[in-house]
Amino acid sequence: MADIKFDHIYKRFDRGLPAVTDFNLDISDGEFIVFVGPSGCGKSTMLRMIAGLEEITEGSLYIDDNYINDVSPKDRDIAMVFQNYALYPHMDVFDNMAFGLKIGKFQKAEIKERVENVCQILGLEDYLHRKPKALSGGERQRVALGRAIVRNPKVFLMDEPLSNLDAKLRVQMRYEIIKIHQQLKTTTIYVTHDQTEAMTMASRIVVMKDGFIEQIGAPRQVYHYPENMFVGGFIGAPPMNFLEGTIRDNHFWIDNQVSMKIPEERLSEIKKHEGIAIILGIRPEDVHDEEAFLETMQESKANVTIDLAEITGSEAVLYTKIGNQDITAVVNLRSNIQQGDNLELGFNMNKVHFFDPESGNRLK
Ligand code: ATP
Repeated sequence: MADIKFDHIYKRFDRGLPAVTDFNLDISDGEFIVFVGPSGCGKSTMLRMIAGLEEITEGSLYIDDNYINDVSPKDRDIAMVFQNYALYPHMDVFDNMAFGLKIGKFQKAEIKERVENVCQILGLEDYLHRKPKALSGGERQRVALGRAIVRNPKVFLMDEPLSNLDAKLRVQMRYEIIKIHQQLKTTTIYVTHDQTEAMTMASRIVVMKDGFIEQIGAPRQVYHYPENMFVGGFIGAPPMNFLEGTIRDNHFWIDNQVSMKIPEERLSEIKKHEGIAIILGIRPEDVHDEEAFLETMQESKANVTIDLAEITGSEAVLYTKIGNQDITAVVNLRSNIQQGDNLELGFNMNKVHFFDPESGNRLK
């Protein structure tokens, strides 16, 4: 069992703005929580406070209803996996993984059994007597994970554990970590700046910026209902498009030239903002060029010229402008699409988001 509760947590270092401001979150036993945000947003500081490596300036941290602000790191029953693996270079795989258990005064036979079991889970059986320098990056990261798992802690903390691996290995290790979590169901907090990792691994995502929580939610919820422009722009790749415009006569007008019809069912939420500048957000995959789609969207289209077409395989990423505002579209690849083409793009107006240009918050 490991529920974690963050109650109005603040972190202030000696100088500068607070690294973390009023962090509130309840994590249930067995959740896989991802803290995601750009560099400097306070993710690692949060993780270090949970581990006890950094003091909490203000607020209370509880694990299973026990107040742990003042509990020393070794008594928190937490295991941490770092980006740089932090393996002992002079010890082989077995000893690296057994180290914490030896300190914890476990019996020799139990240590052997635990290490061998975990090595089997992680496919490390053949590497037990190798030193870290004789392992690849992926194998080292597996040992680092193994070292955390053998301790059977209440909580796993992972600080960008995959960022030193190449793209292919990252995808593979992502999958392995998810599988291990499904098997062990240990409460896990995972820190990354990579929104794809957050989307694919998390049961809930905590999006952070400048020490503040911007949104907490399941990956789909954060993707489909971003609370503000920052979250809309940060989660999803290529990022959400943002267009300035005004609502008039049930249409969203861009530069008073192009208009997109707002569907009946979206009007009530937006009607009161008629005539004032607002921001429309639309994901690149909701901008279409297929004829069948364009026929159904008679009043939500614009003629554009393609500035750049990036072919990614089965899809093309099109960069263009409506008026003087940038638009990116991800469309199914047609063999002949290229820079300089004139074409019609349609907006799926059922999928758009409206934001306040000043606060950046979602309009409700
Ligand atoms: P990254 O992805 O780059 O690791 P992060 O989101 O993990 O970033 P933190 O490392 O938690 O961010 O840093 C949050 C803020 O706290 C930053 O502004 C950073 O400069 C500041 N900070 C972190 N550690 C210290 C420290 N020991 N002393 C002073 N300021 C610090």
